[in-house]
Amino acid sequence: MNNPKLTSFQEVIRLLTKYNFKCKKRLGQNFLIDQNILQIIINSLKLNKEDCILEIGTGMGTLTSALSPLVRQVISIEKDKKLDPLLKESLSPYNNIEIIFEDIMDVNLINFFEKNRKKGIKIEKIVGNLPYYISLPLIRQILELNKYLKFAVFLVQKEVGERLMAKAGDKNYGIISLIAQYYSQPQKVHTVSSTVFYPQPKVNSMIIRLDIYEKLPVQVGNKKLFLNIIRASFQQRRKRLINSLSNYFQREIAKPAIESILNEIGIDKNRRGETLSIKEFAKLSKAMEEKLCK
Ligand code: SAH
Repeated sequence: MNNPKLTSFQEVIRLLTKYNFKCKKRLGQNFLIDQNILQIIINSLKLNKEDCILEIGTGMGTLTSALSPLVRQVISIEKDKKLDPLLKESLSPYNNIEIIFEDIMDVNLINFFEKNRKKGIKIEKIVGNLPYYISLPLIRQILELNKYLKFAVFLVQKEVGERLMAKAGDKNYGIISLIAQYYSQPQKVHTVSSTVFYPQPKVNSMIIRLDIYEKLPVQVGNKKLFLNIIRASFQQRRKRLINSLSNYFQREIAKPAIESILNEIGIDKNRRGETLSIKEFAKLSKAMEEKLCK
C-alpha cells in the first residue's frame, strides 16, 4: 500500500521534529508534500510490476515508498546519511527498497548498472526530485547510460526543464539541449508550483520526462567531434560560426577549409552557432569528419 501520510504536511513536520532533522538548502532538500504531483510523477513512469527503478535523492522516502508497491525493486541513492534514522521509520513497512548512502556524483554509473544486471536487476527507469546544484551534470551522465534506459523522469527547476527542451533560436538553447535531444525526446509532463514542497524553494519546478531513444534518430558520425563542434559553437555565443569553429579547431583544420565545408553543406558561415538545429550540427560533424580524416 502507498503510504499517503508522507505527503501530509503534519507527518513531515512530525518526522523532522522527532529526528531533529534540519533541511539543508545546499543539498536541495525540498521535500514533496503533494499527493497529486506524486501521482503525476508515478503515472509518467508507466510502471509495471517487473520494473526495477533507480531513484536519486531519497529524502524522507516519499517517492520511494509510493513506488515500492508498484514495482519489483527500488534502489534509491541519498547523499545525506543523517536521514538514515528517519528513513528507517518511514520506510519500515516496505521490503523491496534498497537505500544506498552515497553522493550520486561519486558513483560510477556504468559499473553500477552492469553490476546490477549481473544480479538480474535490470534498471530501465530513473526518477528523482533533483537538487538544483547537480541537475545538469547528472542529467548529462544519465543520458550516456542510454543503452540501459527507457525513461528518466525528473522534477527539476523550471528553467532546467526549459533548457532540456529548447530548440534552435530559443533563448535557453544550449549544449545541454542538444545532448538531451540527441539521446532522448524530452517532454514536459507538468509545471509544478513551489507550494508542493517543504520547505518551499524560491522558484517553480517542472516534471520532465526524457524518453530515451532505442535507436538514435540523428546520425552524427564521430560523437566526440560532434560534441566538440557544439562546444565550439556555444563557447562564444555571439561569434559567427566560421570564427568559433576556426578558433576552436585551429590546430586541426584551416579557416578556408572550414569555409568550404560550410559552403558545401549549405550553412551560412555568418550564422551564429546557436541558430543551428541538431540536424545541422550532425551534417556539419559528418562533413568535418571527412575533411579531418583526409
Ligand atoms: N525524493 C524526495 C527528496 C527530494 S529532495 C522527495 O521528493 O521528497 C532532494 C534529495 O536529494 C535530498 O534528500 C538530498 O539530500 C539529496 N541529494 C542532494 N545531493 C545529492 C547527491 N549528490 N547525491 C545523492 N543525493 C543527493
